[in-house]
Amino acid sequence: MNNKTIYFDYAATTPMRAEVLEEVNRVQSKIYGNPSSVHALGRAARNELDLARIKVAACLNCPSAEIFFTSGGTESDNWAIKGVAKANAYKGKHIITSAVEHHAVLHTCRALAKEGFKITYLPVDAYGMVDPGKLEAAINAETILVSVMTANNEVGTLQPIAEIGEICRKHGVIFHTDAVQAAGTQSIDVERDAIDLCSLSGHKIYGPKGVGCLYVRRGIKIKNLLDGGGQERTKRAGTENLPAIVGMARALELAEAERMEANARLSALQSKFIRQVSEAVPGAVLRGHPTERLPNNINFTFAGTDGEALLLMLDGLGYCCSAGSACTAGSLEASHVLLAMGIEEQTARSSLRISIGKYTTEEELNGLAEALQAIVKRLQEMK
Ligand code: PLP
Repeated sequence: MNNKTIYFDYAATTPMRAEVLEEVNRVQSKIYGNPSSVHALGRAARNELDLARIKVAACLNCPSAEIFFTSGGTESDNWAIKGVAKANAYKGKHIITSAVEHHAVLHTCRALAKEGFKITYLPVDAYGMVDPGKLEAAINAETILVSVMTANNEVGTLQPIAEIGEICRKHGVIFHTDAVQAAGTQSIDVERDAIDLCSLSGHKIYGPKGVGCLYVRRGIKIKNLLDGGGQERTKRAGTENLPAIVGMARALELAEAERMEANARLSALQSKFIRQVSEAVPGAVLRGHPTERLPNNINFTFAGTDGEALLLMLDGLGYCCSAGSACTAGSLEASHVLLAMGIEEQTARSSLRISIGKYTTEEELNGLAEALQAIVKRLQEMK
């Protein structure tokens, strides 16, 4: 690792914050009982689990009995979509999603298509936004589920979730949202936005990796994910990963308490950096929505450059960025999100995602802006 490592990849994952680490360590070392055991140590563990569920539920504005802990965002997305599809197939086999979802949703839908489900992939506009009118027009008598993410992981665009929720409710269609990237900076309110299922992940919000949750509204028919013991009200059996669950709940609770102040700081850093780069780097175009976007996401394309080369040169200077989502980084394919936004392939390959967070400073961003100016110029001259 470079002796100067500067992290700009908070959308891929975040470091655990000290308060969370403390909680994880406390539970790991002291609360080692199995929450299903009836003795005192088991009861102590059960109390921790119940409290974590109450904390997460408070952040989503739902009863705690509607929160199910999972191993992360991917599992929550898979379970929500496959679980609802299979439990409701008797009503119809049509699912609507968007072309810019995370692969945890897209590949899940692809797997269901192989089993006879019909999937509609809604197009997006040049900013990566779904049109609620088009969504409503796509609903038919066979539609059982709509899955549209709250915020995009590559370009940060926020979807009109409240409108989508209202449309789904009106037509009696189940609504799932992947809020993995939105959690921590956005208010997620399943009542306000008529959300029936919602996926969250611990490691995007300064919590532990390998833990997440799925909100499932009472009365929604969903297949069990894992059969076994009675954990998670028999729907997702297996001894609970208590240290991680407690850590995630603490991370979410802290994020919610600090959200306004943290967002104001991030937005100011984001705006300044976007202005700096747009003015100083020839060929730089901001991607994603100009205003309806996460405060921690910056995505530029740099005409006449290659994103992989940019990434490697920045890495050589100690800057950790991303050429798209972590899952597609390393593969040479252009981002499906940028392509869906109508960006031509060559330009899509010149994208760089800079995601900022709690520990990002103005000085670090100034340094990155300067480095970018020099690197982009060099790459453009090499063309
Ligand atoms: N959904 C979105 C929007 C994401 O950004 C990610 C992670 O990159 C996931 C799902 C997957 O979450 P996890 O890494 O917890 O499986």
